[in-house]
Amino acid sequence: MEEKKGFCVLPFIHLATHPIGTVTPCCITEMKDDVSSAIDGDRKLFLETDPLTDIANSERFSSMRSQMLKGEYPKVCRICQHHDENGIYSKRRESNEKFKHLIDDAVLNTKENGDLINVNYKYIELRLGTVCNLKCITCNPFSSNRWNEDVKIFKGTEFEKQYFKNNDKTEWYRSTEFYDDLIKHTPELEEVWINGGEPTLIKEHSYFLQKLIDNGVAKNVNLHYSINLTRIPDTFIEIWKQFKKVRLSLSIDDLGDRNDYIRTGSMWSVIYKNFKKILNYRDTFSIEVCQTVSMLNVYELNEFKKFTQEHRVVLSHNYVNYPSFLHVSNIPEEMKQEILKRIPNLHVEEVERLTEELYKNKTSEFEKFYKYINMLDLKRNVSISESLNEWEKYFTK
Ligand code: SF4
Repeated sequence: MEEKKGFCVLPFIHLATHPIGTVTPCCITEMKDDVSSAIDGDRKLFLETDPLTDIANSERFSSMRSQMLKGEYPKVCRICQHHDENGIYSKRRESNEKFKHLIDDAVLNTKENGDLINVNYKYIELRLGTVCNLKCITCNPFSSNRWNEDVKIFKGTEFEKQYFKNNDKTEWYRSTEFYDDLIKHTPELEEVWINGGEPTLIKEHSYFLQKLIDNGVAKNVNLHYSINLTRIPDTFIEIWKQFKKVRLSLSIDDLGDRNDYIRTGSMWSVIYKNFKKILNYRDTFSIEVCQTVSMLNVYELNEFKKFTQEHRVVLSHNYVNYPSFLHVSNIPEEMKQEILKRIPNLHVEEVERLTEELYKNKTSEFEKFYKYINMLDLKRNVSISESLNEWEKYFTK
């Protein structure tokens, strides 16, 4: 079945949640105009109000699975289709390989119309809302509720469409009822990815983790967290120890004051203290740093790499594409050339990726970046040229 064009195991075994309580077949299906969310007729289904069986067997999800069983690509899988057709390793192929051992049973568990006979998730992604204690410059109100404090400055500007108040009040991720339903559908769970917002602020999800421990499932489950290191509650550490494997992706974007400027609301002394605390568990958990690379930190990429090397931690680069004016290709040419001369610590493939990203787009959105930063600095009473020295000559104080 995995050889069948268009077939992907994820819609058969996976639950991908979103902060406002919608569910999609995976995290990369088409999101524009909400075309991937579970829907019955014209009624959208939500984790706050609808049982997981209804969501899994919603018209949209069932018809998607039925299409896949016939070897067709559902429209919402256009990214994977595009990758497959252009020889790029798609998430579809990656998932079919990763969960190959589940494919036969997943197909047997599916009726011709695409309905699942038993809703038995093997892999879940819990995006626990937008509650966060930071408002990183590269983020927005749909991933951090603290951003709501600042969005009014963009009213009437070109940024208004991207930055507006997120009024969603749903708190499905605090609901015992939701976790009780989820536990019924995860007796053979293999993997959980938990992120947010900042997941350590949502203590309610430990109820679900504890249930997995109590019913003996946790020892078979790989747990993956994305956390911002502003806090590492000991209660979570003790819970995590009960799982098969734990992978912690630490979001840090730069060092010292630079990090505090980019990741607004953070204090480097606290971040570094927690970084060292979690490194004490390096033999128990797999720990990596995930650096979001943008216009704001690309100049000091080498220093950051050095820092992770000194602490013997794996580093991955996540290049910002949205908003596009924060993408590294917008920096002035002279700065690009300087950067490429000062990256001795980067591995060959990291240099290749960086070079590719720096020269990816032909048209520059520097003016937009300039305007955005000035507006935000004014609101936050900070100054890019004081925190990120490389920008001093481009920005007036
Ligand atoms: S084919 Fe791609 S987009 Fe569709 S569900 Fe699978 S991984 Fe997601």
